[in-house]
Amino acid sequence: METCNLCQEQTKKTRRGKPHKDLVKVNEPRVFTGASPRGYEEQDYKCLDCDSKFTQSTGKNDLAWTLWQG
Ligand SMILES: [Zn+2]
Repeated sequence: METCNLCQEQTKKTRRGKPHKDLVKVNEPRVFTGASPRGYEEQDYKCLDCDSKFTQSTGKNDLAWTLWQG
């Protein structure tokens, strides 16, 4: 399935960017503690429109929004 326009835009958003309207949360956030200074969280999302999957991370060294192809 083609990645919808909103999902393509989503990959460019920053850590503070909100999920677009068709992205819904999947599962609970994964909390990583121990990384200094405050740890970070990952949250999975799925697009109801094109079925793309994203992971949002608050980790400094990660992409804010990672799109999982296929
Ligand atoms: Zn989409």
